[in-house]
Amino acid sequence: MTNRRMRAARFHGVGTPLEIEEVPYPEPGPDEVVVRIAACGVCGSDVHFLEDLPVPAPLPMTLGHEPAGLIESIGKEVRDWAPGDRVALSIGEGCGTCRTCRSGHPNSCLSLVVPGIHVDGAFAEAIRVRADALVAVPEGVSLRAAAVATDCVASPYHGLACRGRLEPGERVVVIGVGGLGGQGVALSRVLEAAMIVAVDTSPTALERAKQAGATHTILSQPGADLAAEISELTDGGADLVLECVGAPDAVSLGTQVLRPGARLVLVGVGIEPPRIDVPLAMFGLRELTVLGSFGSHKRDLVEVLQMQADGLLDIDSTISHRLPLEKVAEGLEMLRTKKGDPQRIVIEMEP
Ligand SMILES: [Zn+2]
Ligand SMILES: [Zn+2]
Repeated sequence: MTNRRMRAARFHGVGTPLEIEEVPYPEPGPDEVVVRIAACGVCGSDVHFLEDLPVPAPLPMTLGHEPAGLIESIGKEVRDWAPGDRVALSIGEGCGTCRTCRSGHPNSCLSLVVPGIHVDGAFAEAIRVRADALVAVPEGVSLRAAAVATDCVASPYHGLACRGRLEPGERVVVIGVGGLGGQGVALSRVLEAAMIVAVDTSPTALERAKQAGATHTILSQPGADLAAEISELTDGGADLVLECVGAPDAVSLGTQVLRPGARLVLVGVGIEPPRIDVPLAMFGLRELTVLGSFGSHKRDLVEVLQMQADGLLDIDSTISHRLPLEKVAEGLEMLRTKKGDPQRIVIEMEP
């Protein structure tokens, strides 16, 4: 044990801003590594934690679950990594042995431990993580792009490709095109959707969605009949709807614009029950599917990082704000109030 210490942004409870404090520097267990953080994404979930979403960890704790950086030290049983390796965290690594993990849903494992959610996270100089939860960042991909990829890109990709099984030529509707949804638009383009309809309350978000590849945009305004507009635009409904808002109204809209045989994938995080406003007979007749989606699998992260390396995605251009650790509370407030129109905020440590 050493007395080495580091700075970390600590969460003390609902309603209190994160505070920068000195904490012990992490040391790797036998199957763990310590990653020197280069960048960590600021996520809507972090804002939820500060407001009302219970954190499943004893407080105080360090938030930040979207890190990328360089491996600094490795545990004595670690074979696959070496100090200096560029890595990003896969946030869906379950225990690997339970029925949920073995049935192909490690991200839904009841024993899932995500740094920044269940244990100390990456709004800090360094983090201790399981070696097998890491993914190599390909050459040419910046560590801040890799940080954003861990959740903001990998999660909608998991929803579209892994859960939704999006096929080339299909018609996609993305409801809510802020952080995750905006990436969902770009990913739908890479996956060769024939039509990509972006729906949002913000004209700025819709303009960004258009640049990311949306073929059509619909501004959600009070009194607008969005379901009718989307159904007409898609000529009878979408093949796949990606819901990224996390609100009952948005889920309801999603169910109403599905063509027969289509699927609605719920990526948005919320605490209210989803609402389905389709008569049961029609839901059955049309053989509709509603799918939950949470985080991603390691393979999803590997694939989106490769897309970035291949030039199919431009994650860097979606990062609107780069802030030092000291300004993490400011970044969270910016995301909460949407002041300054943040697209994606990344915390970066000094070199
Ligand atoms: Zn996140
Ligand atoms: Zn498990």
